[in-house]
Amino acid sequence: MSYQVLFCEEANADHKHCKRLYAHTFHNASNVICVCDAIVYLPDEHFAGILAHEIGHLIAGYDADEDEANKIAEKRLGQSIEYKRHTDYGNDLEITNDPQLLFEQLKDYLEPESYEELIEPRLEEDEDREIE
Ligand SMILES: [Zn+2]
Ligand SMILES: [Zn+2]
Repeated sequence: MSYQVLFCEEANADHKHCKRLYAHTFHNASNVICVCDAIVYLPDEHFAGILAHEIGHLIAGYDADEDEANKIAEKRLGQSIEYKRHTDYGNDLEITNDPQLLFEQLKDYLEPESYEELIEPRLEEDEDREIE
């Protein structure tokens, strides 16, 4: 299953009401992650953490709670997702400690168009990094 990331007006409205809300799932389709415009300004560690969490929701299903979404995302993507209490971008925000590695994993989960638009601009050229 590959997932699509789409900008969504409802996500913009949610983010305006509550800063920590950048994305949601199961809006119109079960393979789409809706994001707000502001997500593109997040640092990699939050951006990657949020996308992984949302993929967790899509895999875990509509009824899954936050914990279940994170657990399944961690298991599938092999990266831990934590919450950071206070950030400049909202409180209790998802964070991962190796966003570049997570970006590599996301390639298997996102539609090529979404990957090119949102992830590729964030990939760092790093010859020391091993890509398996
Ligand atoms: Zn939406
Ligand atoms: Zn969630």
